[in-house]
Amino acid sequence: MTNANPEIQAAPTLPNFLRDIIAEDVRTKKYGDAVVQTRFPPEPNGYLHIGHAKAICLDFGLADEFGGKTNLRFDDTNPAKEEQEYVDSIMADVRWLGFEWESLCYASDYFGQLYEWAIKLIKAGKAYVDDLSADEIREHRGTLTEPGKDSPYRNRSVEENLDLFTRMKKGEFPNGSRVLRAKIDMASPNINMRDPVMYRILHATHHRTGDEWCIYPMYDYAHGQSDSIERVTHSMCTLEFADHQPLYRWYIENIGIFPSQQIEFDRLNLTYTLLSKRKLLQLVQENRVSGWDDPRMPTLAGIRRRGFTPEALRSFCAAIGTSRTNGTTDIEMLEYYQRDDLNHRASRAMAVVRPLKLVIDNYPAGKEEMVEVANNPEDPSAGTRQVPFSGEIYIEQDDFREVPPPKYYRLSPGKEVRLRNAYFVTAQSIVKDAAGNIVEVHCTYDPLSRGGNSPDGRKVKSTMHWVSAAHAISAEIRLYDRLFIKANPSDVAEGEDVLTNLNPNSLEVITGAKLEPSLANAKLGDHYQFERVGYFCLDPDSAADSTPESTPGRLVFNRTLSLKDSWAKIEKKSGA
Ligand code: ATP
Ligand code: MG
Repeated sequence: MTNANPEIQAAPTLPNFLRDIIAEDVRTKKYGDAVVQTRFPPEPNGYLHIGHAKAICLDFGLADEFGGKTNLRFDDTNPAKEEQEYVDSIMADVRWLGFEWESLCYASDYFGQLYEWAIKLIKAGKAYVDDLSADEIREHRGTLTEPGKDSPYRNRSVEENLDLFTRMKKGEFPNGSRVLRAKIDMASPNINMRDPVMYRILHATHHRTGDEWCIYPMYDYAHGQSDSIERVTHSMCTLEFADHQPLYRWYIENIGIFPSQQIEFDRLNLTYTLLSKRKLLQLVQENRVSGWDDPRMPTLAGIRRRGFTPEALRSFCAAIGTSRTNGTTDIEMLEYYQRDDLNHRASRAMAVVRPLKLVIDNYPAGKEEMVEVANNPEDPSAGTRQVPFSGEIYIEQDDFREVPPPKYYRLSPGKEVRLRNAYFVTAQSIVKDAAGNIVEVHCTYDPLSRGGNSPDGRKVKSTMHWVSAAHAISAEIRLYDRLFIKANPSDVAEGEDVLTNLNPNSLEVITGAKLEPSLANAKLGDHYQFERVGYFCLDPDSAADSTPESTPGRLVFNRTLSLKDSWAKIEKKSGA
């Protein structure tokens, strides 16, 4: 199932069943006069990705709509995989997306409280220490069709359980030797309710609590109670937690605390994209990408570096809405919202990616002039700028063909075209090197066509971008393509890894592109439309590495997205 045609612009706030639930709870005063309280609960074991953006927009966006509040809570119950670097990146990414949390919370802040509640459950005969190994516990758990079997330790006395659990906490036992389990129902049709593990022994240093603890709560035992402590009214999470909901409620009811409620929604899946921190970590660790912020990564850090904007991401998240069944959204839909946003905000500039020298034979020797160019035709308030023109300019290699194929309207011998905002030119002759490559095209220009129109009303079929050779600055250009070749990257033969679906041509680096001189002043975070080429932004590598040999320092631009190119489509269709 894929989303509907992205060309049909979605309203900024589509109907959304989560909104309906919250609205109803507010109407019936389910939580009295308490404000709507939500939380975004990342585990700090990787960088946030586009899927998390959906969850963030729901958690923060819906709370905002109802005048409520949202906490950022790190679900840091697994010391082995968590790091401060991830905590820092997650905070930066949430803010970049445009949201600010009410309170900054950590599940680890609740370790003491969670421990006391575990004691309470033991005293009530609702939790016990089990000495079975992890494998034995699995064997006893049963299957979807068979009930589980009781552990021989299930009926330990309250006293013995209290003694063993406190000694677990003191560090008397090795990893894996014992666990604390909730005493619920080994025959429950829901496997999550078959005496789930609450605590495990793990002698590991935690990124915040250090060596204070050697027992750590499981996700299910920590999450609902953390919600309850923060008086979360609507705890939204993805559908894979639906089977855990009875357990979420069991803990809250049996401890007797604030009744937070869990509501599940559909996970975002995108074509050609992997949205799983575990798999993204693998790409980083195996150096398949340059890091978490590689512009090909679907991480927020990656797409930010690539030139994506928080506004586009938020529009996209509003447009996809939510439902109760998982589906897959076409990546083109995200790209559509991004192009739409950049079309309005990006300054236009001229940049020639693969330069070919064009010499204007009848242009007065030594002359140069300035032509006026609009910064953004979509936004007159962006003003105009002066771009230098002279008798030697660069055009794209693609914009000239010695032997033009049918329907090719750009420059070819004898053909006249418009140089954007400058003049009409007509190709006259070609200079080739010894290998037969075209190294120069000679042309003549019509001095009366200044500004890009001829007084006799002559029409040309093509308008091309250009950069004056003497004034051009050089830059490195990085062209990105999809990281995976398959719409479903996980579609692999048995025993094969998703990495076999990596696109070997996802990055093309072009050095020696020629840009108009104003781009020497480009700043990180600026967005450009290189006319006819695509949307671009400066890469941080530019600032980091200023080489002395070229005056403005080394410039590196990332292609955020291409423009739609109808010619490429025609060529593809005709198999050329
Ligand atoms: P991953 O599988 O990538 O590790 P996760 O669910 O384990 O993701 P968490 O840090 O636990 O990552 O997620 C924080 C919140 O973001 C959770 O509420 C989770 O449901 C939500 N979330 C994660 N992935 C997606 C997604 N693809 N679409 C929507 N929400 C998501
Ligand atoms: Mg998780």
